[in-house]
Parts: sequence; C-alpha cells; structure tokens
Amino acid sequence: MKIFNTLTRKKEEFIPLNPDEVKMYVCGPTVYNYFHIGNGRTFIIFDTIRRYLEYSGYNVKFVQNFTDIDDKMINKANEEGTTVKAIGDKYIDEYYKDADGLNIERATSNPRATEFVCDIVEFVKELIEKGYAYEVSGDVYFRTKRFEGYGKLVGQNLDDLQAGARINVDERKEDAMDFAIWKAQKPGEPAWESPWGAGRPGWHIECSCMVRKLLGDTIDIHAGGMDLAFPHHENEIAQSEALTGKTFAKYWIHGAFVNVDNKKMSKSLNNFFTVRDVLEEYDADVVRFLMLSAHYRIQLNYSKDLLDSAKASIERLYNAIGNLESLLEEVIKENMDADEKEYLLSLDSYREKYIEKMDDDFNTADAISTLFDLVKNTNSNITIGSSKELCNKALELIRELGMPLGILQKSTKVSLEDEIEGLIDQRQQARKDKDFALSDKIRDDLKERGIILEDTPQGVRWKKAD
Ligand code: AMP
Ligand code: ZN
Repeated sequence: MKIFNTLTRKKEEFIPLNPDEVKMYVCGPTVYNYFHIGNGRTFIIFDTIRRYLEYSGYNVKFVQNFTDIDDKMINKANEEGTTVKAIGDKYIDEYYKDADGLNIERATSNPRATEFVCDIVEFVKELIEKGYAYEVSGDVYFRTKRFEGYGKLVGQNLDDLQAGARINVDERKEDAMDFAIWKAQKPGEPAWESPWGAGRPGWHIECSCMVRKLLGDTIDIHAGGMDLAFPHHENEIAQSEALTGKTFAKYWIHGAFVNVDNKKMSKSLNNFFTVRDVLEEYDADVVRFLMLSAHYRIQLNYSKDLLDSAKASIERLYNAIGNLESLLEEVIKENMDADEKEYLLSLDSYREKYIEKMDDDFNTADAISTLFDLVKNTNSNITIGSSKELCNKALELIRELGMPLGILQKSTKVSLEDEIEGLIDQRQQARKDKDFALSDKIRDDLKERGIILEDTPQGVRWKKAD
C-alpha cells in the first residue's frame, strides 16, 4: 500500500510500526457549532482510510479529538450566556448525530482537550525544563529557533516561513515565529491552575499531548484537512519531537478542501452548508459518494448539481443490488456449474483491481469506477438462468467493495409498513390538494393489494383485509 506523505512530498510504501496495527490520529472539530459539509469531507476521507486499513487486515487505533476550549468556544458561550462546558457538551452530541448520519464509524477514542489539562501542564513544564519553551507573565511560548527541524512538514525553513507569514508583532516574544502553548487567563475566561498562574492550553499543544497519552511517542498516521499542515501540524511536530527526541508521526495525510465558487467553505466566509441540512434531503450514501468520487488530495467544488448526479449514480448501484436480490427469489438453480465458477473468477478480478486502486494512495475515484464496471458486468451476465450461489457471490462482492467506502450497505427492501405509511401520506396530501382522483386511486390500489384504509378521529389507520 502506498500513501502520499506530506512530510516527504512522495508516495511511500506504508510500513506500520507494528505489523498488524495502525495508530492513527485525526484532528477533530472545534465544537462550537454544527459541522459543515467541508468538515464532513475531511471526516469522511479519514473514516474511509481507516475502514480501508481495517479491510486490509490492520487493527486500527483511531483517535480523533474534540477541541473544546479556544477563543471561538469562549465567544459562543458568551453569546449564548452559558458556559464553555455546556457549549462543548451540546455540540459534541450534535457532532455524533451528524457523524452517525454520514455513516462514520465511531473512533476508538474521542478525547476532549479539557480532560487532558493536567497532562498538558506537565508537557509544557517539561518543554520549559528542556529549554524549548519560556514563560512571559503567565503565557508560555515555544522557542521555534531552538527546534532544528522547524518547517520540515511544509518544506520551508524558519526564514522563509517568517517572510511569508502575517504575524502579529508581540514584543514579549523572543521571536516572531514563537507560538503560545499556554495562555494566561483573561477576565471572564475559564482557566485551570498551573505553575504560571491560571490559564488554558494553546490549541497545538492539546494534540501533541493527547497523541502521546493515548497512542504513544511515535504514531503511524497523523491526519487532518490541508489547512492544518501549517502552522498546526508543524507546531505539533516541534512540540512533540522536542519533548521526546523521537519521530512524532511517520505518515502525514492531508485532505483537500471543499470549496464553494472556488473559495474554501468556511464558517467565517458564511458560504457553508451544514451536514444536518444536507442530510435532510440526501442520504449518507449520496454524500459519501460525492466526497469520494474525487481523489482526497483534489479540491472539490460543492454544488447541488453534483449532489444530484451522485444521487443518480448511487441509485444505479443500488438498482443492481436490488436486481440481484429479486433474482435470488426467482432463480431455480441452487449451485454454480463449471461455467459459472469460471465467470466468478473473472468477477474476483474486480476485487483485485479495486484493491490496486485503493492501495495507490486511496484512489477512491478509480475504485468507484471499478465498482461500476463490476455492476455493469453482473447486470448483463447474471440472469434468471443463473444459480442462487452465483447471485449471492456477486451480491456479496458488491457489498464488500462498498464497505470501505461506507456505501451500499443498506437494505433495498422497503418494509411493507414504510411503504403503506408513505402511500397514506401521499393520499392525505392529495386530499389536501383536492386531487380526489389521485387519493381514490391510492385507496383503490391498496384495496387491490388487500389493504383497507379507515378514517378515524386519530387519523388514517390501515389493516389487512380478512
Ligand atoms: P475545524 O472545526 O474548523 O477545526 O475543522 C475540522 C476539520 O475540518 C479540520 O481537519 C479542517 O482542516 C477541516 N476543514 C475545515 N474546512 C474545510 C473545508 N472547506 N473542506 C475540507 N475540510 C475542511
Ligand atoms: Zn491537531
């Protein structure tokens, strides 16, 4: 398996620290709002990578944090007249609702920054002791010049970075590139005790600390959206490697943005669509299909048209599944004959091709094309004359290849109850619209199927005719 490593700017063979295990950390959301479809893409990408690693036989320890203390959290709490803790609790709950809605697997662990403040204080203390950090009236800064490799993730040295950066000049810092790892309390802000007085952790230090506590000094994969490479991830490397003297993460993976009219989707530009709203209209398969139909390092310009075409594509795949499921109820032959066994081998070659694509830096776009080729093939070759065994194998293969992408796992069978409830709703609407022809037709069609509708004071009820 090959992964494009931001650190080396090359596709590299993936060799985990332990042969069967992958330690993976993804920077998670700041929990002060519902997350948008841009954040959603990042979470879907890393969920897919995690699923594919699992599909490939690795046991993945997947940690994704919640940033539950920073300026945005504090501002939101002030706006709503509540505590930072209450804002965190609320939007973590909302995160899970949307992430579950997107069929994102639960992480092995979702640590909250505020649960690790004691460990962060220890981390900062040690950095000061080692000469990598210094305190100025209650704030603690990381001494970037002291860390030799600063800039290696983005491939620039300190001077280049300084020239390109828009940094607020702060007289109290030794160097403009030094960054805060501990912030002194300002009036009205939540704070924790520390050797430097009351304060709170900076953003970068929380990840360095939680990675170390939950996964160890060196991990296999560290990931996040493209915007996190600098300064966030560069600073994480500096803090962690300064402390341990060991490599922090072997592979760095960064996902590209979702844009709107070629501008990054973001809360601050107010050009965002929440996952909550999108899921009202489209289901998880459609959103995931859209996000995975482009390679993860390519930006995606979001539009409703793209979602609609993703919907049509997903329907084609589900139709193939539905056809195979219907065939299973009709075919007579039980077991495969020699020709079918041979044909099955040719179907297995789609699995190989799919794996080849996914092994090439998680090329989901090409893996999806392979899935379509497979479906085209089964549509035209598996018929009423085929055996049950072959139908089942084809069905299993399509579902199997959908699994790492987090799609094609739903049942295609709408339950009788759901279907009838849906028709009753349609009939009610028709009556409201005074379209009595349609409402009568729905009632008559149901009657023909042995379903009787009764109007009661509590609404419409249905029962099966005796
Ligand atoms: P935030 O809550 O802003 O810290 O973002 C959480 C994650 O979503 C981070 O990994 C960001 O890099 C990522 N992210 C933010 N905006 C976008 C976007 N427009 N497209 C893709 N990923 C994004
Ligand atoms: Zn982070």
